[in-house]
Amino acid sequence: MAASKSLLDSLKKPEPTNFRMTDFRRELHLRHKREEHAKKEKLRALQESKYVSRYAITIDTSRARSNCDVLRMSIKELGFKEYPFGRKDNCCDVHWHACHFEENPEVFGGKVNKFPGMSEICSKMTLFRCLDIMRDLFPTDYDFYPRTWYLPAQFHEFSCEIRKMHERRVKPKPTFIIKPDTGAQGDGIYLLREPNEYSSLSGKCHVAQEYMSNVYLIDKFKFDFRIYVLLKSLEPLEFYICQEGLARFSTLPYENPTNKNIHESFMHLTNYSLNKRSSTFNRSDRDDEGSKRTLTSVLRRIAMNGHDSNKVWKSIERIVCKTIVAIVPEMKVEYQAAIPPGKTGPSCFQVLGFDILLLQNLKPILLEINASPSLSLDSEQEVSPGVFEYVLSPKDEEVKYPLIRDTLLHVVPIDKLKYFRKKKKQRLLKKLKASTSQKSKRPDPPVKQRTSIVIIKADESDEEKREVNVTQQMSEMHMDVDSHGDSTARDVNSDDERESNIKSDTELDEEVDNYFETKLRESCLKQLYPAIYDEECERYRILERVAGLFIFFLGIRGSLRIGPTGFRTFARKCRLNRKGMTNASVDIMYIDLQRRWDHMNPERTSGKKGNGLCYQGFLDACIEIARRKFYAPTKIEMLENLVDHCELNLNLRDNDLANNLPRLHFRRLGLQYRQGSMYAMPRRVIDQMTEETTIEDLLKAHEKKLRQPSREDIEAFLRKSRRMIYQPSSGSRVISVTKSPDSE
Ligand code: ADP
Repeated sequence: MAASKSLLDSLKKPEPTNFRMTDFRRELHLRHKREEHAKKEKLRALQESKYVSRYAITIDTSRARSNCDVLRMSIKELGFKEYPFGRKDNCCDVHWHACHFEENPEVFGGKVNKFPGMSEICSKMTLFRCLDIMRDLFPTDYDFYPRTWYLPAQFHEFSCEIRKMHERRVKPKPTFIIKPDTGAQGDGIYLLREPNEYSSLSGKCHVAQEYMSNVYLIDKFKFDFRIYVLLKSLEPLEFYICQEGLARFSTLPYENPTNKNIHESFMHLTNYSLNKRSSTFNRSDRDDEGSKRTLTSVLRRIAMNGHDSNKVWKSIERIVCKTIVAIVPEMKVEYQAAIPPGKTGPSCFQVLGFDILLLQNLKPILLEINASPSLSLDSEQEVSPGVFEYVLSPKDEEVKYPLIRDTLLHVVPIDKLKYFRKKKKQRLLKKLKASTSQKSKRPDPPVKQRTSIVIIKADESDEEKREVNVTQQMSEMHMDVDSHGDSTARDVNSDDERESNIKSDTELDEEVDNYFETKLRESCLKQLYPAIYDEECERYRILERVAGLFIFFLGIRGSLRIGPTGFRTFARKCRLNRKGMTNASVDIMYIDLQRRWDHMNPERTSGKKGNGLCYQGFLDACIEIARRKFYAPTKIEMLENLVDHCELNLNLRDNDLANNLPRLHFRRLGLQYRQGSMYAMPRRVIDQMTEETTIEDLLKAHEKKLRQPSREDIEAFLRKSRRMIYQPSSGSRVISVTKSPDSE
């Protein structure tokens, strides 16, 4: 009975299989579609990531903080791709950090806009110590910064000097400026005239400097220059100066320091961050007016006052070169500690801010280097009493925007730039062809056409969307990027006008090709080194060779200090015992210098950086050894003799050391590696060469040198050296001295 009922029921019910089948099919169909879609998405993402990694120039701005505005403007103009929150894999071409190299330790490739340890190197104590060392070796060349004492370590010397000046009744009464070692924006700075006015209670280190009171005034106000410098690379050394900068003015008319006005910071300090609080701060937008002006407007004013402003600018360029050369050895030591040879890491570049004061006689004086100069484009303005508002500052924009844009153009990978350019050209030509064929189809052209050139914008995923309009003035500094998706060919006023707007393929080819070249040519950045000051700075680069030796003997990778064993090895391997340095004297020297430097640099010696002798201590040791055992008429010659001796006794074919030494050193001194022997031609000999010099002359010139070279040594040197052309056919006159190809 039950069985027949269920049979009946089943007969009454509509056939379900069909329904289920369609449902199932629909489900299947939908799933299939979803899978297809996901596949397409995946493919698109893959293409996108391929596109990004192949030719989109990517900038990580997640740590750029106050630099973001100016950076974003530049990225937009250049059509690069910004990652405001960084990339998961940290693979960007440029990582922009606001303060330090170490801000993102996960970066292993691309470029970072900070060098390791740069803020420490630019701290007042380290910077002026580096300069003091150079002044010691080249007294007349390094006379562009005030005399400096390091407090509290040198308090005794400082107070003795003040007492002596008082005794000599120096007029005007000497004044000194005290600055905290790591201070900025005028914080903690004060002037004093008696040593007992120095307060060491804070426990901080300070520098005391001679106060330069005879400064050049404009409209009765004191001012200083902010000069921007791009340090593009360390090895090989390459840096640029920005041809526009800022002049920051004090806000109280200047008077020579007296006991009465010594505390007037608005009169004696020119920091913008300080003077903007003054009620007399002048916010004029005019170039040549106000408390903040452009560098060029002030130079023009100096020229109008009848002075040679070009000479002033040249002196500033020289100061920049000499200062950078002075800090490069320290930078190399820090660099190898952060990125030891063999370890993958990013390469670095950095924009530095040099503060320079002008004396009455128009001699520029270096005050400090800022490792992170302000790049913000806005300034505070008081809209009503006590209420401040941030507004865009046209002067800051005029200076900082081209600086950052051109910096990016200099540092992004050159191969990507080429690829980027090629793609841009391809799109452009494709669109051009499309627009010409459209033209032939349509008898009535649309009303207006603003553009006829199309480029690819790297920051949108869809290829079509990447196409943006660009005005025809490709070579103009401001490229007019319009983000309207597919509006490739706009309307024209008339057929004729459109005809004239569309250029030939080759013309466009050239135009796009020229785009980046024009930008680089019109760049506000001018190469100082090696382009202009290569020859002039060569002799200052001796300390890089000392840094090379220091790095070679560091022993532990990533360390900043040489231990007692490393120092002993240095003396042994360089065969200093042959010059009469006993093991005991080496040990005593090490202990003595290590103690002295720990005392000089208490803030940098404690903690993670470990025990041992720092680079500056090692340099002191070298100078001391050179003085004792390599006597020569001048300090620089003594040091050169010591370094020559060390390099000669070390196996320089060892790649580690060769990599650590400056490229220039090999080029200039012509170090030659030949099987089993090495021959170094001293610079003195090279300098004395003329077109009349013969090999015999050169053999004689070496008589008193470290190792008498053979005729073959000299011949090999002449053949291989890039500075000279060897002409065996011309008899005994075998040399013709030519300029180095790099310096032309
Ligand atoms: P900070 O890093 O705090 O800005 P600076 O060294 O730039 O310190 O000094 C601040 C200001 O003090 C400078 O802008 C300049 O006007 C003034 N100043 C600094 N050193 C001297 C000096 N030796 N002689 C005259 N003025 C100085």
